[in-house]
Amino acid sequence: MATNNEIKYIQSIIGRAELNESFYQHLQNQSSGNDGENYFKSVLDCIPEIIYITDYQFQLNNHVQIDAIVIDDSAIYLFEIKNYKGIYEFEGSNFKNNYGGSMTSPMLQIDRINFAFQKLTANLNINKPIITKLVFTNPYFNLKNPTLYKDNIILPSEIGQLKSLFKNNHIETNMKIKQKLLNARNDFSHIYQQSITIPFRNGKPGIRCPKCKRLYTVKSELKKQKCQCQLCEEVMDKTYVYEKNLLELWYLKQQPFTIEEAMWWLGEGSEKSIRRLCNKLFLSETNRYKKYYLEDEYNGAY
Ligand SMILES: [Zn+2]
Repeated sequence: MATNNEIKYIQSIIGRAELNESFYQHLQNQSSGNDGENYFKSVLDCIPEIIYITDYQFQLNNHVQIDAIVIDDSAIYLFEIKNYKGIYEFEGSNFKNNYGGSMTSPMLQIDRINFAFQKLTANLNINKPIITKLVFTNPYFNLKNPTLYKDNIILPSEIGQLKSLFKNNHIETNMKIKQKLLNARNDFSHIYQQSITIPFRNGKPGIRCPKCKRLYTVKSELKKQKCQCQLCEEVMDKTYVYEKNLLELWYLKQQPFTIEEAMWWLGEGSEKSIRRLCNKLFLSETNRYKKYYLEDEYNGAY
């Protein structure tokens, strides 16, 4: 699951840089990942007396994250949820889509998850078979070779059959397993995990419309307080637009910036007014060459 910082970073980069393939993939996974996970959780919530955990994280050599775990009488099910859209195909260790994109096969990912979870349950003295399944939740997803890993895959049209998969006659025993797992849980979401970033110098400066997120569409006239996006037609306070864009500078650079950089970033406005905004929005050291930053999200040294 994406951290707040990561979400802000992603929201700031769109339109400002050429996204390479790995970043695009990451972006697609992040933005749609939560939709898929929320959808899957809602489906589980419809099943009476089901025992499950979502977003389970633990540490075992590496940090492992499992989207959903269901504990029933016969097994512990691990679900890796993908909200991919498009037509996909397994090809060896790759997973390819009809846009010409290719990524590492998620089957390798679920193998790794399964392996790590086996170790965890052995350490916790939990003796139940572990079954790992890849769930595709997006209704606009299609698999070219669905029979290849049939037993490990749940397609969007098969999600309704989940109901009849689980048996839960030993609620107490299964609840105990859930509790054991929860005790071993280790949540890492508080750590700033910036998975992929684009070098700051590759980001395009300029005013971006806070509403429709397009660059160079906000028309502002000298000495007028209001400005209007020529695309989405939103009328906004110029100050508001500058503030939003300065925050984006911070989220993208992730390092303190000078007033010169702020002016270069916006490409318009007087030094006096931009300085006033920066002083209001950001913290700064009180020396001649001031650098602006935000405290909460900034934890490096400079
Ligand atoms: Zn707009």
